[in-house]
Amino acid sequence: MSRRFTTLRSTRSLCQHGFVPHEQLGALAEVAARYAVAITPAMAQLIDVADPHDPIARQFVPDARELAASPEERGDPIGDDPHSPVQGLVHRYPDRVLLKVVNACAVYCRFCFRREMIGPGRGGLSPKALDAALRYIAAHPAIWEVILSGGDPLILSARRLKDVVARVAGIGHVKVIRLHTRMPAVAPERVNAACVRALRARGKATFVVLHVNHARELTEKTRAACARLIDAGIPMLSQSVLLRGVNDDPETLGALMRTLVECRIKPYYLHHADLAPGTAHMRTDIAEGQEVMRALRGRYSGLCQPTYVLDIPGGYGKSPIGPNYVAAGTVEDFSGRRHIYPPRRKPVSKA
Ligand SMILES: *Cc1c(COP(=O)(O)O)cnc(C)c1O
Ligand code: SF4
Repeated sequence: MSRRFTTLRSTRSLCQHGFVPHEQLGALAEVAARYAVAITPAMAQLIDVADPHDPIARQFVPDARELAASPEERGDPIGDDPHSPVQGLVHRYPDRVLLKVVNACAVYCRFCFRREMIGPGRGGLSPKALDAALRYIAAHPAIWEVILSGGDPLILSARRLKDVVARVAGIGHVKVIRLHTRMPAVAPERVNAACVRALRARGKATFVVLHVNHARELTEKTRAACARLIDAGIPMLSQSVLLRGVNDDPETLGALMRTLVECRIKPYYLHHADLAPGTAHMRTDIAEGQEVMRALRGRYSGLCQPTYVLDIPGGYGKSPIGPNYVAAGTVEDFSGRRHIYPPRRKPVSKA
């Protein structure tokens, strides 16, 4: 029999585990009333209470600074709403849509970009709304890829997941099904054989993108969960958020990227932290992010390089934000030296 663990959801339980000091309970209760709190057993076990800068605690333990929203922050930081033709669906790019099947997660990240929309008990798409979203996808032949997101789609039972995947896969012009999830890291036991089977669909490609921000999240159990997916023929990519005090230095980020590649997971995106309310203390400047990326390029394998992207506030989509190696007829190499690259000349025609 495996031991039974429970997810920590109240500031009182966080206090009992020594994750927050007693004297902060008042302020943190206010934070918890605004933004959902949940720390899974897998993540709670990783927190070192003796370390005031623990990178796992920083991602999940509420902080009184979350109550201080700054003026540039917004409730819908990446502008999902203006591109949502039907409930639960975001159609920002011509060839792919985001289908938010559920509004809950196993953990609640303190920097979550959808924190105003997400929390326990906010449920998922009603069967009617799911029908409408699938009708929209079926009616738009340009949609080549459907990205299941949320919340965390893997919080659904294997039975419901299988149903959604099968219905999406049943739309002829949809060739690729992608899931964005934190589950293999934060609750690896949930990624069991039934879950893996639910993600496969005959004749369609399924990709899983793991949200992970620190190498310590990739425990033995997490590695095994990812291996179950990959061995079943589901390629994995990663997305990480650049977070102040969690992974905003080349050594920490490089170690994360190397660990991912060792797990056969290709680093895909490094997100600049979005302007979610009350998250200023977790963000970096773009210039700082570019510097970290430059150091990564110089020191680590090409396999370890994610693309650094910003989701432009207002709903304009993601753009790579550098660093840029080409300027004024020169190209910078991995150690920072510049080299001239000549402009192209038109070939001289010999008549
Ligand atoms: C991020 C996002 C995608 C996926 O973008 P990729 O660059 O293909 O990873 C698709 N749709 C929406 C609405 C998104 O926010
Ligand atoms: S897993 Fe994603 S959606 Fe869920 S709280 Fe974290 S950042 Fe938000």
